[in-house]
Amino acid sequence: MILTFKIKHNRDFSEELKKAFEVAEFTVANKIRRNNSALVKDIRGILPSAIATQVMRKYGNQKTIKQVHNVNLVIAGYYIKFFEETNSIWIPCLKLHLENTINRTFTKINQIELDKEFAYVSCTVAEQPDMIPQCFIGVDRNTTGHVAVTANPDTGKIEKFGKSALHIHRKYSAIRKRLQREGKFRELKRVKDRESRIVKDLNHKISRKIVDMAQVQHAALVFEDLGGIRQTRKQHRSFKYALHSWSFYQLQQFVEYKAKLLGVPVLYVDPAYTSQDCSMCGVRGQRKGKDFKCPVCGHVDHADVNAAFNIALRQKGMVDCIQKEMDTMGALMPHWSSDLE
Ligand SMILES: [Zn+2]
Repeated sequence: MILTFKIKHNRDFSEELKKAFEVAEFTVANKIRRNNSALVKDIRGILPSAIATQVMRKYGNQKTIKQVHNVNLVIAGYYIKFFEETNSIWIPCLKLHLENTINRTFTKINQIELDKEFAYVSCTVAEQPDMIPQCFIGVDRNTTGHVAVTANPDTGKIEKFGKSALHIHRKYSAIRKRLQREGKFRELKRVKDRESRIVKDLNHKISRKIVDMAQVQHAALVFEDLGGIRQTRKQHRSFKYALHSWSFYQLQQFVEYKAKLLGVPVLYVDPAYTSQDCSMCGVRGQRKGKDFKCPVCGHVDHADVNAAFNIALRQKGMVDCIQKEMDTMGALMPHWSSDLE
């Protein structure tokens, strides 16, 4: 798996970045497909030829590009040295040291890009083989209340994550509506970007907690398979749902890659009726807002918690079924062999 780490470089590369921009512009304007820095020797100035070559490669390969914006310094992996003992990176052509920066084991640095503030280190990270889970944690994602509620039927443990999301959403939606009305579109874009940064940050934190929790409990994570996300049972509040769907998807993506790095299995089950069925007796119950009540066994629960239990139980049910079949076959085995003798 390839991951990118962002590290502050604390250096002024404005002159190099300016030259890289000129090289990119020149490459695009003259439709240069050969990445040969000799072609730009008169314009690259202090920009190292190794970087000029990579910039030419990057922009020369984009055949449809008409104009360049925000050109980064691009350094190929073979021009980068990594020192394991000190966990530091050395880029000789820029005489740049990046210290104690990467908190993960990786097999290879593929490339580094630099802008005026950060170094973006792209590296190949080894994936852990999936562990064999001892239990299942159901994860219910929500448009109202907490972003995610988790439940482990084996331990009865329930956790709730991301209470602030709705608050963030309400606050920003009011601001967005006002700016839209006033026709302040530049400001509107800025506010939208800020909101997505905050949500992204929140999703990173929630996914970290969920995956770490699963690892500690030796559990697999079970999600509803929302597939196209748009065609689901939860769609009746479709407008609100659309607003949240990208955030749902983002949380799922973050969980997936963090889980992969730790070998935590992530599984998906059919989402039908997970919020209406009773997690205790399995009959269809009633859900009113955040309250769930079972008409048969009388079980009363928070609706999201009930749903999270159902999601885990659905997966557990499938595994138990397979296990039972295997046990039956195992029990039959000696019988068969004695028959054969
Ligand atoms: Zn019940």
